[in-house]
Amino acid sequence: MRPTGKLHLGNLVGALQNWIELEDHYESFHFVADWHMLTTDYADTAELRSNVQEMVTDWLAAGLDPAKATFFIQSRLPEHAELHLLLSMVTPLGWLERVPSYKEQLENIRDRDLHMYGFLGYPVLQAADILMYKANAVPVGEDQVSHVELTREIARRFNGFYGAVFPEPQVLLTRAPRLPGTDGRKMSKSYNNAIYLSDPPEVVSKKLATMITDPARKRRTDKGNPDVCPVFDLHKVFSTAPHIDQVNRECRTAEIGCLDCKQILAGNINKGLEPIQKRRRPYERDPEKVWAILEEGTEKARKVAQETMREVRAAVKIDYSSAPTGANG
Ligand code: AMP
Repeated sequence: MRPTGKLHLGNLVGALQNWIELEDHYESFHFVADWHMLTTDYADTAELRSNVQEMVTDWLAAGLDPAKATFFIQSRLPEHAELHLLLSMVTPLGWLERVPSYKEQLENIRDRDLHMYGFLGYPVLQAADILMYKANAVPVGEDQVSHVELTREIARRFNGFYGAVFPEPQVLLTRAPRLPGTDGRKMSKSYNNAIYLSDPPEVVSKKLATMITDPARKRRTDKGNPDVCPVFDLHKVFSTAPHIDQVNRECRTAEIGCLDCKQILAGNINKGLEPIQKRRRPYERDPEKVWAILEEGTEKARKVAQETMREVRAAVKIDYSSAPTGANG
């Protein structure tokens, strides 16, 4: 995950909850993709350190478990840069230019110049991150499937030149409801519409109070349509079945107003956030705990990365230290 700072409800249901479940069934690696962050945010790195800390604090708060999985920071492992470089030698430009998210972001992100070498190579770096651990499965949402597919193609091509080094990773398509933010667009830090895992109950209630609802329901006495209401989308994820039924029924008959409906939702979200915020507190009080977890995980990942790179260098025949010298055999 790119270090964007505090995480929101969209990150929780779109990523973290899936990862927590996978930790019990797979040997998992969770990492801070700080180099990936630089491919788009190269001009503004002032907040990088605190963003890493806040994000990993939220991982721990949400329930990711460093005893079950390895947490690390990408840039602390130069092996990832080396593998990225070697993979870039065999990755045709056309493959990268055709990646859907590349064109889409070039067109949509207007406040920064993304016509950069590093940005085009983003999926090659991602391939290096995945292949380094010889991953069998990569848990991603729909939007990342093409990147994993590209990783498979790069692995196949590398193996074709240098021998069977990398397995081809499978996509583990994760359930990722696209959670709306308070303005009805996808919940996102950059839209200023997010409810954060660390938001206290009164902030959650206040944000929900301003959230847009069924635009056709203008007065309290108008009947509403939950099918087009983003507040109802949040109910479906965070509320109990009886509450979802109640809101669904009583909105359509105007028995309840939008404020009543939002209060029920606030109660349910806050109840869900309570254990998360409780787990968050010791890490907030002592951020060194977070950095220690990252340090320990980074060293664990480093062992795997070093081993993979020994094998890669031997396959590419650039491991001169162990090569015969020729002169004396
Ligand atoms: P991002 O930092 O936006 O790339 O998000 C990190 C992870 O959270 C990705 O796996 C996203 O798919 C997921 N995510 C972000 N925003 C949302 C959202 N509004 N609804 C569901 N999942 C989300």
